[in-house]
Amino acid sequence: MRTLPGVDTILGSEALSRVGARGEVPREAARAAIEAERERLVAGGEGADARRVAEDAASRAEQMLRPGLRRLINATGVIVHTNLGRAPLMPAAVDAALGACNLEYDLGAGRRGSRRAHVAELLCALSGAEAALVVNNNAAAILLALSALAAGREVIVSRGELVEIGGGFRVPQILETSGARLREVGTTNRTWLADYEAALGPDTAMLLRVHPSNFRMSGFVHTPADQELAALARAHHLPFVHDLGSGTFGPLPPSLEAASSSPARALADGADLVCFSGDKVLGGPQAGILLGSASAIERAARHPLARAVRIDKLALAALEATLLAYRAGHPEQVPVWRMIHAEPEALRARAEALATRLEGLATATIVDCEDAVGAGSHPDQPLPGVALALQSPHHAPDALAERLRRGALPVVAVIARGQLRLHLRTVDPGDDDALAGAVADALSVP
Ligand SMILES: *Cc1c(COP(=O)(O)O)cnc(C)c1O
Repeated sequence: MRTLPGVDTILGSEALSRVGARGEVPREAARAAIEAERERLVAGGEGADARRVAEDAASRAEQMLRPGLRRLINATGVIVHTNLGRAPLMPAAVDAALGACNLEYDLGAGRRGSRRAHVAELLCALSGAEAALVVNNNAAAILLALSALAAGREVIVSRGELVEIGGGFRVPQILETSGARLREVGTTNRTWLADYEAALGPDTAMLLRVHPSNFRMSGFVHTPADQELAALARAHHLPFVHDLGSGTFGPLPPSLEAASSSPARALADGADLVCFSGDKVLGGPQAGILLGSASAIERAARHPLARAVRIDKLALAALEATLLAYRAGHPEQVPVWRMIHAEPEALRARAEALATRLEGLATATIVDCEDAVGAGSHPDQPLPGVALALQSPHHAPDALAERLRRGALPVVAVIARGQLRLHLRTVDPGDDDALAGAVADALSVP
């Protein structure tokens, strides 16, 4: 035990100094490394080695300071992947917000300005809405709309739309949390306009429609059109609120266009308020976007909850950059838009180039596959994709997938039909080189 180095020796070592940390971290790392060495000696190990302890302390310190949130390559083919950061952002989307910025300052007038002003005009121009408000996420947007417009009163919702969207977001619970009362109408599969009509009463505050997200019904089903619900609400001087879940301002491929609920169309069809996520098909940061009549938006904006769920400056800057791309007619600057529109031939060419680079390391075959928009948008409308299937003589598919995840630049792949597959649609072409490098590393024999 006398050979064990002291804390100060390890603190003064070259290895630990290299990490460059000050304060508690080097001390904690040194103590932990010495303790590990002590246990090794207790277990019968030979004399302590100060050099080894210092190296161990350095790697412990590095581990403590490594960010948990890491950039990775999404090769799953699911574009808006709930587990992988949802929408990949445009580069430089947050530059404006890094230092001091005019977040709540009117540069022209030289006095306090409004956080809302930065994107409200853009959103109105893009959607035809009278007014707009942006909050932290879409769950907050719907909670705010319900709290401001319906607390203490009834909200009429079809039984077919009382869904759980994921991550604990359940429509009946959000409604209850807002202080509104749920008035369910119709049945799971069929709800008629007359069902809504029969439920109207002096306590009714709102007609609510919720996009069912990942849930689909087909066959013996009915639900009134948006225009019918809007007309009924208008006739009774009630707001019709439509939670679209996802929405965008750029054109979608023809295969998706028909089933999409665009914010502009939902407003044109008579909704008083629509809300959707900033980081689903729109391709922006996490945000909840509310669009609609000036009176409904003002009521939401003035509710005390609005302050609690407001958007932060990083998200605001990223959202503005994203909206400007749509406004300038350059949706192709938005990574999600590019990924949705990527043509299979282009994906195939990239897969072939990648296969060539991996020659000799693995058997690479190019396969047709199905990609997805993700995040509950267009759940039954796969996009035709292309993947590179890899078979290694040294690593089973599961083991290879794990090696890819654990690499310096993690790659998340999928396993299908017993093969490891890399879907090209969700990889930014600018990352193809990095992907080839990461895959080559994972394929190497340890
Ligand atoms: C995704 C979704 C939400 C929640 O949006 P977040 O931005 O994740 O908070 C709410 N409603 C619907 C219909 C959705 O699809």
